[in-house]
Amino acid sequence: MSSRSDVVVIGSGVFGLATAWELAKAGRSVTVLDRAPVGAEASGRALGRLDPLLRGSGSTGQTEQDLPAGQIAKPEAQQELTLVSYNAHRELTPEIEEISGIDLQVDEQPTLQLFYSQEEHDFGAQYTADWTAMGFRTDLLSADEIRGFDSRYLPTEFGGALVYGPYFIDSLSFVRALAECAKAAGARLETATVNSVEQGSGGATVHTDQGHYAAETVVIAAGPWSTELVKPFGVDLRVHPSKGEILRLQPPGGAGFGVHIHGPCSLVHKKDGLVWVAATGEDAGFDRTPTDHAKSQLLENARVMMAESAEWPIVEHSVCFRPATPDDLPIVGSVSENVIVATGGGGSGIVQCLYVGRLVEKMVTGGDAEPQNDAISLSRFG
Ligand SMILES: Cc1cc2nc3c(=O)[nH]c(=O)nc-3n(C[C@H](O)[C@H](O)[C@H](O)COP(=O)(O)OP(=O)(O)OC[C@H]3O[C@@H](n4cnc5c(N)ncnc54)[C@H](O)[C@@H]3O)c2cc1C
Repeated sequence: MSSRSDVVVIGSGVFGLATAWELAKAGRSVTVLDRAPVGAEASGRALGRLDPLLRGSGSTGQTEQDLPAGQIAKPEAQQELTLVSYNAHRELTPEIEEISGIDLQVDEQPTLQLFYSQEEHDFGAQYTADWTAMGFRTDLLSADEIRGFDSRYLPTEFGGALVYGPYFIDSLSFVRALAECAKAAGARLETATVNSVEQGSGGATVHTDQGHYAAETVVIAAGPWSTELVKPFGVDLRVHPSKGEILRLQPPGGAGFGVHIHGPCSLVHKKDGLVWVAATGEDAGFDRTPTDHAKSQLLENARVMMAESAEWPIVEHSVCFRPATPDDLPIVGSVSENVIVATGGGGSGIVQCLYVGRLVEKMVTGGDAEPQNDAISLSRFG
């Protein structure tokens, strides 16, 4: 078959669907292509933590790994971007739930950041006032105060901080809801495996196992697989798959706890009733195998924050891939006249997607080659 739309979006993850929704709302005819069901990759398996302040556990791209130990906060550029994106979630969540009829399972439990060194404590103390002034109330807590909340928490002598504002959603519900919003605005979702993208005169063509799709603009939002799709354009995207594994545990009698505990990993009692232990970060290509070493690492990390959690039955052990970039910021830009790439959400792609969708929409409707934000432009890597 062959078909034509104003825009073809490759990828029905959160980046592709947020983009498709914005473009459809702007009156463009949009076709979204994906080889798999909505949310099959990271977008449907992520922890669903919407946190503009703190670093993610295991969610490293390159920069975070290079940061000196003890820095618990996101670097400035990441914080700025996630803050704008976080606000987009706050603004759009009611609309997304209403249009889609899907409950995103918004969960406002605060984050208890545990400190493991004097350096982490000092770092936390330094940010407390700033974050509180930004509207994210943050209370520094001693080890005794933390144990006073729940005797199962295992703080060190350096205590911790309770941060209000970062919250959780269910990422699978979210990506499915975005698909419904995009469809309600007129976008078409089709199943196809994309083999290549070709720049033509006045447009581009997507070649798939189902035929050819022509468009005025093609948006490649294929997560870490975007790197291969843009290679023929002579672009080295610098996006690689960072393998992340998550365990879901069944707490006995459904008894969880009321805060997200964050230290060497995230330990969070989600609205599905399970306690998620997230996540590892590994450079292992696209190997989808859940590993024993990741399981041991996650359980050990859980144990140091709440000993008994490491004994709870494992209900699920999942694997997915972050589209990681060297500076842990997304990459948005044109790889040719009619082909745009939008990827690189790393460990914060669920937070960032609504903002990125709006940027790409502005690029398409405004005819710009680069997004209106240099920090995430394709050209920043030269
Ligand atoms: C363990 C883990 C935990 C995370 N936790 C969080 C979190 O708490 N908060 C947060 O903000 N972010 C989190 N993330 C990051 C977030 O999940 C990702 O950044 C985001 O989902 C990436 O979305 P995407 O749309 O770019 O890519 P994907 O979700 O990977 O979607 C890409 C889509 O493209 C399709 N595709 C690829 N190639 C082709 C092709 N050739 N033809 C057709 N279709 C194709 C795929 O099937 C897929 O559906 C986490 C990630 C991991 C791995």
